[in-house]
Amino acid sequence: MEYRKLPRGGEDISILGLGTSSVGAASEREIEETVTFALENGINYFDMASADAKPFGAYGRAVAGSRDKVYYQIHFGANYETGSYGWTVNLDTVKQSIDWQLRMLKTDYIDFGFIHCIDEPSDLKKVLSGGILPYIQELKKQGIVRHIGLSSHTPALVNQVLDMDLIDMVMFSINPGYDYRHGDYAIGNVEERMALYRRCEAEGVGISVMKAFSGGQLLNAKTSPFGKALSEYQCIQYALDKPGVVTVLPGIRGKSDLERILGFFTVLPEERDYSVLGTFAPQAAGGICVYCNHCQPCPAGLDVGLINKYYDLTKAGDKLAHSHYLKLEKKADACIGCGHCDSRCPFHVNQMKRMKSIGTYFGE
Ligand code: SF4
Ligand code: SF4
Repeated sequence: MEYRKLPRGGEDISILGLGTSSVGAASEREIEETVTFALENGINYFDMASADAKPFGAYGRAVAGSRDKVYYQIHFGANYETGSYGWTVNLDTVKQSIDWQLRMLKTDYIDFGFIHCIDEPSDLKKVLSGGILPYIQELKKQGIVRHIGLSSHTPALVNQVLDMDLIDMVMFSINPGYDYRHGDYAIGNVEERMALYRRCEAEGVGISVMKAFSGGQLLNAKTSPFGKALSEYQCIQYALDKPGVVTVLPGIRGKSDLERILGFFTVLPEERDYSVLGTFAPQAAGGICVYCNHCQPCPAGLDVGLINKYYDLTKAGDKLAHSHYLKLEKKADACIGCGHCDSRCPFHVNQMKRMKSIGTYFGE
């Protein structure tokens, strides 16, 4: 397992976590075995926005004894009183649901207390005026909630909450389909979405990724908006390469799904390479560097993807990225203008020109 640090707090979070949306299809016993298997493989981050109530007890039993090694993302607004998931902004219902979730999980604290699924401005108003946010903040004061988070599919609303400087983590849907405007939750164009990822990184807000496979649509040529399938490993790598991302949370259906997902760490780099995407979505993707490094090797030894990432982040106000850039052994001014990257880039980035702009920007 690999881990990334949560910028605000410093917790080491596994780059692969688990989503619970589909695991309810398995028996309680299998869910318990799957969570145990996840823990044995170093997974320590679990989102609890489940489609039904079933997983909570199984998680509670599997995690008992290793609670201090696990981070739960718990949603203030997910309600399970009928046995199935329901969305609510009623404060009393939220309180009852949180009590029930903590009881089932056999815990008395919440690592990440999430404002849940805010996609419309009216939802945000209800959370702010209906007492849910003050409730989360009160629990944070008491030490019951350790970090406040937000789940949303809407960049404009995430930006609005970022303006309030409340949250340490945002759960956001990132996949190539949504980024290039395909699918129900593909909100915001690619520039707006990339700007949000950069803002999160610049402000030290981590991103936990939901819908990395677009609900499975991207994995099948028949349902993929590009007419061609991507693999789970390509989608995971795509999400992990975006600025701000701390962890990706695939929604698994049981142990065999998890075993396959963990293959991400052992497959050849070619199997994670998603640069083929540039041929799927040339119009929307054109000219924007996605830091994939498909253009390597650069004969001058430049890490093209990283230089571009630090440049974009610095422009978004990330001082740390600026200092990382300055520490690079080979910077943009070392570009010899050979054109190799331009000829290799599937996203049609004019990288020679961009390297000149980057060099000028950093005063080289
Ligand atoms: S220039 Fe193209 S190939 Fe190179 S990192 Fe950027 S997007 Fe990827
Ligand atoms: S154009 Fe510059 S950055 Fe691109 S491969 Fe050549 S030397 Fe490297």
